[in-house]
Amino acid sequence: MKLLEYQAGELFAKYGLRVNKGVVLADKENAAEKIEAAGLNYPVVIKAQVQIGGRGKAGGVRFAENGAVAREIVDGLLFSDLKGHRVNKLLAVEKSGINKEWYLSILLDRDIQSPRIIFSTSGGVDIEQTAADNPGAVASAPVNPLNGVTDYTVQYLCSKSGIGSEYFDKLKDVLIKLYDMFMEYSCLLAEINPLALDPDGELIALDGKVEVDDSALYRLPDVTEYRNSIEEHPLVAEARPFDLLYIPLSAGRVALVSNGSGMLMSIIDLLNKENIEAACAVDLGGGATRDKVGEAVRVALSTPGIDTLFVCIFGGITRCDEVAHGVRSAVEHAEGDKTVIIRVEGTNKEAGLEIIAATRGTVSVDSVVEGVKAVAGRCRDEHSD
Ligand code: GDP
Ligand code: MN
Repeated sequence: MKLLEYQAGELFAKYGLRVNKGVVLADKENAAEKIEAAGLNYPVVIKAQVQIGGRGKAGGVRFAENGAVAREIVDGLLFSDLKGHRVNKLLAVEKSGINKEWYLSILLDRDIQSPRIIFSTSGGVDIEQTAADNPGAVASAPVNPLNGVTDYTVQYLCSKSGIGSEYFDKLKDVLIKLYDMFMEYSCLLAEINPLALDPDGELIALDGKVEVDDSALYRLPDVTEYRNSIEEHPLVAEARPFDLLYIPLSAGRVALVSNGSGMLMSIIDLLNKENIEAACAVDLGGGATRDKVGEAVRVALSTPGIDTLFVCIFGGITRCDEVAHGVRSAVEHAEGDKTVIIRVEGTNKEAGLEIIAATRGTVSVDSVVEGVKAVAGRCRDEHSD
């Protein structure tokens, strides 16, 4: 789960990292008064709380010298559309003077099964671009979780990045705090960009991106709280109460429903070999009942632009006849002309097939490969029209 900037900032502050004083604005009434009441001094920075990179360039980071300008910015920016994202909240923060903009992040490096620190003096901008144009400007070091952030790692980053020992203590302090947060909050990413050096020589986190491993949410109630205020894909939110995992993929006409992520990934791979991208995948998990299957099919079919659904079920605890009942009820209520290709295997297969045979708009196939071919056939037919 990705946090919004102000939420990342709250976690930073909790770990003693320096962030500027700020206030979240969620309505247009009395914006200037709220900024004042929060004790902020002008100039302030007003920032759209949306999960896109490069908000600055897109007009989502604005500077206000006084209350009148702040009011104007809030009026224009709040509830506007920024690169396809609705701005539901703004963060107003005191504006820092900046002498330098650095980049610092800790991410989970799956190749080495450890956290990795990335540091660069070319901060503020897109780090991927810096890494591509000038790889030497990006220093990186793995962290052995048994040792944590060691002095020699900090020393290495200081020397490799060119900032030198002068900043050793300050960088070490920031790194240890960020690393503690990274570990305790089971982060996949904790990024500060820019990590700004202010005129007093202090390091301040001016922007934050934090991504927490969803599997750890059960023990992070404060992060779970945050989830409610994050703009989510509407179908992800719609699927969750049924304990269904809706995974938006790319644009396309094909939706997938299956039980288990391995099966879904195999199908996606096989479709990709046929140059077909799935628009979404819905994971039923184990032991799905007809109601749950019905909801999964309904949500999958409501994906915009979909005309083909491949349902692929390997029934162990999940019974094929339950699956078929679920599919039938959802298909019968579905709007528009949609084809459901369905493969069931396992417990009560024959009973399931009978129900499917009696359901309009469904095509039964006998294997994953056959199902993928049927999907590909439909997509090709369309092309030759
Ligand atoms: P992003 O564009 O989404 O990464 O948003 P940021 O919060 O990183 O802001 C973009 C840029 O605005 C930064 O790289 C800074 O150059 C500038 N900026 C943001 N906050 C401040 C601030 O407090 N003081 C100054 N001087 N510049 C800021
Ligand atoms: Mn930034």
